[in-house]
Amino acid sequence: MTRVFLNAISKQYPGAKPAVSNLTVTIEDGEFFTLLGPSGCGKSTTLRMVAGFIQPSSGSIHFGDKDVTNTAPNKRDTGMVFQNYALFPHMSVRGNVAYGLNARNVPKEDKNRRIDEALAQVGLQEFGDRRIDMLSGGQQQRVALARALVIRPAALLLDEPLSNLDAKLREETRTEIRSTQKAAGTTCLYVTHDQAEAMAMSDRVAVLNEGELHQVGSPREVYNRPATAFVARFIGRSNVLPCTVLGVDGGADGGSVSISLADGTVLKTPRVEGSISARVSAGDKAAVSLRPESIGLTVSPGKETAGQLAGRVLTAEFTGAVNIYEIDWHGEQIVVSAPDTVDRAEPGDLVSMAPHQDRVWLVEP
Ligand code: ADP
Repeated sequence: MTRVFLNAISKQYPGAKPAVSNLTVTIEDGEFFTLLGPSGCGKSTTLRMVAGFIQPSSGSIHFGDKDVTNTAPNKRDTGMVFQNYALFPHMSVRGNVAYGLNARNVPKEDKNRRIDEALAQVGLQEFGDRRIDMLSGGQQQRVALARALVIRPAALLLDEPLSNLDAKLREETRTEIRSTQKAAGTTCLYVTHDQAEAMAMSDRVAVLNEGELHQVGSPREVYNRPATAFVARFIGRSNVLPCTVLGVDGGADGGSVSISLADGTVLKTPRVEGSISARVSAGDKAAVSLRPESIGLTVSPGKETAGQLAGRVLTAEFTGAVNIYEIDWHGEQIVVSAPDTVDRAEPGDLVSMAPHQDRVWLVEP
């Protein structure tokens, strides 16, 4: 249990562009922290640098007050869980969980007690004598988790641990991992490309793309207040449109920023400290994120209303909970999700799209 501090770490593999660029993040003691981004964005490289399997090209890594940048992996006190479980298939569950303790010369009685405790933590107390190859994928991953936790690691590192499980098991197992981690109080660094998984499990998420950090925040922050166009599109679904800043209104509550879209539609977005909206001024180019569920849709005979975008429905998809519309807006496609009502829009209809004012969000292009 410790705080993990990545201090401006970079990794450059020979002959390639940087896999990780100047990444600084702090993972708080006991926090469930996720590195999230598409394949190749540098998540595994970062996790491996924390584990000590890869040396950073520059920067330093700290566990609590200790600089571990040059500490060997087996002296870092981390527990790892991998996508492919990496268990010994012909050994028993207990044998696998004991593995980490054998190397640490823990006395036998203490060892048995700790194995029992770790198996109980992951709900496998009845399975100690079972062979690994007699377990389901989800159970095997819980054994891997018990093996990582039994050494009481300073930090638990998980690299896409759910990728090999089918959808239902993945959801069950993610809930188990999260509750086990919270009960153990272990600092956790988790890697996934699956944004829904990251949102459901994490205290905070770091969103990476091409080795660069785009944003760190709680799941709600990265969803509701994405810093960049990339984050807006990667987390959930969003329409990101280029815009020009018309003016900034200061105000006690932060004020607002007026912007104009390519077709001249004028919208207002909240001005919030720490986001790009607090740094722009009139004339700047930016981008605006409009979530599909934050746009009101009315069928209209093409009449223009201030603050609304006029378009034509291309496709309408019934999904049960909502309808998903693709709407042509001056040659760009805007996605809107709206409840299924009797006066719903149909393909070919002219519609007005009214972005909900408090949900219009300025992002870095
Ligand atoms: P992720 O885990 O997000 O999929 P990785 O950290 O595995 O991303 O990879 C980041 C980038 O570094 C990718 O462009 C990948 O091709 C490259 N890379 C990863 N490992 C090596 C390696 N051993 N040698 C050269 N390039 C590598």
